[in-house]
Amino acid sequence: MKINVAIIGAGPAGSSAAIALSKKGIPNILIDKRRTIGLPVQCAEFVSSNINSYVDLNSMLSAVNQKIKYIYINAGNKTYKLSGNGYILNRDIFDLILSEKAVQLGSKLFAGSRVYKIDRQKNCIEVLDVLEKIVYEIYYDYLIIAAGPNNIFKSYNSHRESYIYAVQIKTELLRKLDSVLCYFRNYIPYGYGWVFPKGNHANVGIGVEKPVSDVNLSACLKKFADELRSEGLIGSEVIEKTAGLVPISGLNDLTADNIAFCGDAGGLTHPVTGAGILNAIISGNLAGDYAADSVKASKNFLNDYKEEVESIFKKPFLTACEKRYRLYPLMNDEYGISEIIKFLWPSFEEYYV
Ligand SMILES: Cc1cc2nc3c(=O)[nH]c(=O)nc-3n(C[C@H](O)[C@H](O)[C@H](O)COP(=O)(O)OP(=O)(O)OC[C@H]3O[C@@H](n4cnc5c(N)ncnc54)[C@H](O)[C@@H]3O)c2cc1C
Repeated sequence: MKINVAIIGAGPAGSSAAIALSKKGIPNILIDKRRTIGLPVQCAEFVSSNINSYVDLNSMLSAVNQKIKYIYINAGNKTYKLSGNGYILNRDIFDLILSEKAVQLGSKLFAGSRVYKIDRQKNCIEVLDVLEKIVYEIYYDYLIIAAGPNNIFKSYNSHRESYIYAVQIKTELLRKLDSVLCYFRNYIPYGYGWVFPKGNHANVGIGVEKPVSDVNLSACLKKFADELRSEGLIGSEVIEKTAGLVPISGLNDLTADNIAFCGDAGGLTHPVTGAGILNAIISGNLAGDYAADSVKASKNFLNDYKEEVESIFKKPFLTACEKRYRLYPLMNDEYGISEIIKFLWPSFEEYYV
């Protein structure tokens, strides 16, 4: 089959691209290997209130679990309370509704379909229908790769290989929170632990840069959860477990001829905080917009996509990378952590001096 734009990945980046394309009337296909879009959730699900400029959350209230007002940074011997307006999403519902919005606007969605090869000479992707075990080809004018972190297409955009390795449990939360909690500890080197509340439950996780940090992830998460239990913050039941990678080396090459990369596939997660949902939406939107303009004008505008995304993210991400590699090695005692954190974490004023 032939289509103007094919999009690999129906996470926030891919669905945002599909929505942008369909709004401009450009035929597009959104392809995801997951049979149910949004599942499994591999995310702590916090997004800042800036999302309101890009997504109408009022039209998808079931995708919002609760509001967040503050961020607490617990850094050894000090805890800082900072403003941090945002939301805890139900990422499974959020991702599903975004993909459904794309379909309502005219996108075709092929779920349960794994793209396993790109033939760049022929402008063709090869797809396996995972359930039916049928293989088929889709010819495209433009391709948007929104396939998340560490995807099989990374060789096309000179990927640098630094990742946070994250493990997370969903567990009971024993007191109500209107804040996200981030913990910096010696036993979580080159990373941090988090407690993100979801009503009576919480996403509790740790993420560390590997191989720089050689901690055993499960043991580290257990130690962190034990600390929280001893404070009476969380219960002992583990309701779900998840794990995943977060790219932290800053932007990758965002284009290769008629291919655009967005979201995690473009390296759009913040190199210190690991936040990537909103950046996936912003970059997906722009990739869809520029691909649509390219189809309409029969002229490749993806270089403009690259320039616009770089103008937003390149400098702040370079700063964050620089801080990450300079400051994490210094955080080696309790006093050091509470002072250094102010220059490492973007919610502090000191970060910007
Ligand atoms: C444990 C953890 C916690 C996190 N917590 C937060 C947080 O609290 N806040 C935040 O902002 N960010 C968080 N992130 C990061 C955030 O989840 C990502 O930045 C975000 O999901 C990126 O969206 P995306 O659309 O680029 O990729 P994804 O959401 O990863 O979507 C990619 C899609 O592509 C599909 N796909 C991949 N390969 C193929 C293929 N070959 N064929 C077809 N389909 C394919 C996948 O099935 C998937 O659905 C966290 C990440 C992790 C791992």
